[in-house]
Amino acid sequence: MAIEIKAVGGYAEVGKNMTAVKVDDEVVIIDMGIHLPNYIKITEEEGETVVKLKAADLMKARAVPDIEMIKEWKSMVKAVVPTHAHLDHVGAIPYLAGKYKAPVVCTPFTAAVLRAICKDEKIKLSNQIKVLNPNSKIKISDKITVELVHVTHSTPQASIVAVHTPYGAVVYAADFKLDNSPTLGGRPNYAALERLGKKGVVVAIINSLYAAYDGKCPSENVAKEMLKGVMLDVDSRGKAMIATTFSSHIARLKSIVSFGKKLNRKVVFLGRSLSKYINAAAEANIAHLEKEGKVCRFARQISKKLKQVQKEGPEKYLLIVTGHQGEPKATLSKMSSGVYPFMFEDEDEVIFSCNVIPTPINRAYREILEDALKAKGTRIFKGAHVSGHGRKEDIRHLIKLLKPENIVPVHCEKPAMDAFIDLGIKMGYTEGRSAHQLLNGQSLKFE
Ligand SMILES: [Zn+2]
Repeated sequence: MAIEIKAVGGYAEVGKNMTAVKVDDEVVIIDMGIHLPNYIKITEEEGETVVKLKAADLMKARAVPDIEMIKEWKSMVKAVVPTHAHLDHVGAIPYLAGKYKAPVVCTPFTAAVLRAICKDEKIKLSNQIKVLNPNSKIKISDKITVELVHVTHSTPQASIVAVHTPYGAVVYAADFKLDNSPTLGGRPNYAALERLGKKGVVVAIINSLYAAYDGKCPSENVAKEMLKGVMLDVDSRGKAMIATTFSSHIARLKSIVSFGKKLNRKVVFLGRSLSKYINAAAEANIAHLEKEGKVCRFARQISKKLKQVQKEGPEKYLLIVTGHQGEPKATLSKMSSGVYPFMFEDEDEVIFSCNVIPTPINRAYREILEDALKAKGTRIFKGAHVSGHGRKEDIRHLIKLLKPENIVPVHCEKPAMDAFIDLGIKMGYTEGRSAHQLLNGQSLKFE
């Protein structure tokens, strides 16, 4: 028996997730994501589109995983398996996957997003995309079968990946929460997780972003209720209503739309990334938000639509816009700075259904945006949001289902890794023997 796990990205850091699983002489790569802050930094520094940047430049800037770490394994790679459609899991595929003669295996929504990213970046992906429905398996080789187990998160069709080998399964649980009342899609596939546990899991690599947080992540249904309070229980008559959230969060967008409809407001989606994810959801037949309201992608279309809204009366509309982090190039910032033709008035409502991603740049951008909006007399609503990441009790529950022989934290920095190991020790694991901390570049062998 020879299973080797190589930590390529996302270990003791948040971003550019990538793990390679070697089974004898065959390799499966799970996730291939970008490090968003580093990616934005290099694209802005270079002052040109990323398509002109080479993989080597992106690796040097730590914007994508450093695949030099597995260069000896290059010819052994049999599949690249992104767990879900978020950029820190799928965003490096256009730049790196072509180095391997292997298909990309993912769910329909992830595939649709991946195709859209490639189109946007004008990159032709040389790998075949094998679309696999959630809760199904694909035989990769005589020895390896990959299974995508459905799990809840903040974007549709997220999976826990099980790599079945003759020596037991390797399970990679990237972003997940255990939500029994999701507002879109099914509950996590507990039966499959339990089955994996009974059959034998050699190692489970588990997202530990919130391992230090006691309790359990609230359901998406809670966010929906919070939105209901903000959107239906506040008198918004005669006022503009503008809402913003993560564009990839299709479930949240659906909730926002449903309350807009209750208010008899016409729904309009304004912004490039909203258009991208709405199209992907339609392509994967998950949701058809494009039927709920006009989707405007380009600046010219957005300007034209806003002129029309202004003319007809903003109080008749619900404007769903990009720019929840205050990004200067997104729709909301451009509306507030007057780049787009929109006149905010006293008591207009702006609803942020998101958290502020805690990086200095995001905090600064959001502050600038909120100050500008407040100066115009708008009412700002924050906090109608729950995370897509499980906390300590979600992690404990997952470990109990999988019963892995070994556990490894991923997708978090050092303090959260320590919290995960502490939890593991309380559950009977031994640090260094069955509960392992890995750093990028390190590997773990099971022989
Ligand atoms: Zn995610």
